[in-house]
Amino acid sequence: MTERIWDALVVGAGWAGLAAADALHAAGQSVVVLEKARGPGGRSATRRHNDWSFDHGAQYFTAYSEAFQASLAKWSDLGLVRPWLEPIGVFGQRPDHLSRLDKEGPVTRWVGVPGNNAVLKALSEGLATHYEHTVTAVIPTEGGWRIEAKADGQTRLFLAKQLVVTAPPAQSAALLGKASALFPVLNAHVMAPTLALMLGFDQPLGLDVSAGFVNDGPLSWFCRQNTKPSRTGEAWVIHATSQWSDAHLDAPQANVGSKMYQAWLELVGGIDQEPTWMQTHRWRYAQSPAPLDQGYLSDKDRRVWVAGDWCNSNRVEGAWLSGRGVAQALTT
Ligand SMILES: Cc1cc2nc3c(=O)[nH]c(=O)nc-3n(C[C@H](O)[C@H](O)[C@H](O)COP(=O)(O)OP(=O)(O)OC[C@H]3O[C@@H](n4cnc5c(N)ncnc54)[C@H](O)[C@@H]3O)c2cc1C
Repeated sequence: MTERIWDALVVGAGWAGLAAADALHAAGQSVVVLEKARGPGGRSATRRHNDWSFDHGAQYFTAYSEAFQASLAKWSDLGLVRPWLEPIGVFGQRPDHLSRLDKEGPVTRWVGVPGNNAVLKALSEGLATHYEHTVTAVIPTEGGWRIEAKADGQTRLFLAKQLVVTAPPAQSAALLGKASALFPVLNAHVMAPTLALMLGFDQPLGLDVSAGFVNDGPLSWFCRQNTKPSRTGEAWVIHATSQWSDAHLDAPQANVGSKMYQAWLELVGGIDQEPTWMQTHRWRYAQSPAPLDQGYLSDKDRRVWVAGDWCNSNRVEGAWLSGRGVAQALTT
C-alpha cells in the first residue's frame, strides 16, 4: 500500500494512455500508469511465436495531423518506426467512404520496429508503469481519487489528484459507475469486434499479393507480416469484418479459424503448403462504428478524463491525439 499522492493516474498503456502520461510527465506532473496486460500496446499489440511475429491488432499507422507527423518523424529518427511500402491489393468494390479516402492521395503507412508497440515500449520506459495491474475500482475522494488495482492476487491502492481512463467505453463505464456524469455517454457507446487469425508457415508462400483490403465476404484484411521491416518468419494475419466477427464472436475458436482460413484460401486462389501454426484472437472492443468527434471526455468537477481512439477516430493517430488532448487540458 502507498500513501503517495500522484498528480495523475492513467488507466491503460495503449496509445491514448501513454500519450497522455508522457505529455503529463514532460510537463512536470507525477504520473503513474496501470495496465492489466503484461506489457504496453493495447490494440496495437505484437504476438511472437517461434520465429513468427504478428501485429494481430493495428496493422500500420497513418498521420494526417501535423502533431502526429512531427512525432512520427522523431520516432523515425530514433529507429522506432519505419515506413511500410508493400503494395496493398483491393478485393471487391471499395465502399464509398474508403473510395473518398483513396482520392486524398498517397499516404505513408508506418509500422513500429520491431513490432507495432515499439513506440509505446519506449514511452513507457521513462514512466512509472505497472503491468498486470487491473484497475477494479475508482472511488472519488475529497482531494481526487482512490484507485484499487488487482495485482498478483492482492489489492493495491493508489491515490491521485486526477484520473485519466483509457479503457474501452463499456469498461470505463463500469469503472466510473452510474454516479459519474460521463456514465450515460460511455454506457451508450458500442464498440464492434474483430476476429483475427494468425498463420505461421515454414516456408515463404508463393503468392504474388502480400496484403489486401477485402470488401466482400467475411474477411476485411490480410497481410504477410514479414513484409514489414524487422519481422521474421512467414507470418500472416487475417481479419474478419465487424459483422462476421459479431456473429461468430462466441463460437468455438477452432471453427472460426478454419472458416476464416477457407475464406482466405478462396480469395487468394489456394496456397502451396499448410500452415504449421494457427491461432485466433478475439478483439471484443476493436473499433467504434461511430467515433465521437470530440477528442476526449471530461468531468472537470470530479477531475476525471476519458480518452481513446473512439473519442476521435478509429485509428492509432486518433488515440494518440485523444491522450495528448487530455494532457493539454490538464496542464493549461
Ligand atoms: C484488429 C484491429 C485492427 C486495427 N488496425 C488498425 C490500423 O491498421 N491502423 C490504425 O491506425 N489503427 C488500427 N486499429 C485501431 C488501433 O489499434 C487503435 O485505434 C488504438 O490502438 C487504440 O488505442 P487506445 O489507447 O485508445 O486503446 P487500447 O489500445 O485499447 O488501450 C486501452 C488499454 O487499457 C487497458 N485496460 C483496459 N481496462 C483496464 C483496467 N481495468 N485496468 C488496467 N488496464 C486496463 C487495456 O489492456 C489496453 O492496454 C486496429 C484495431 C484492431 C482491434
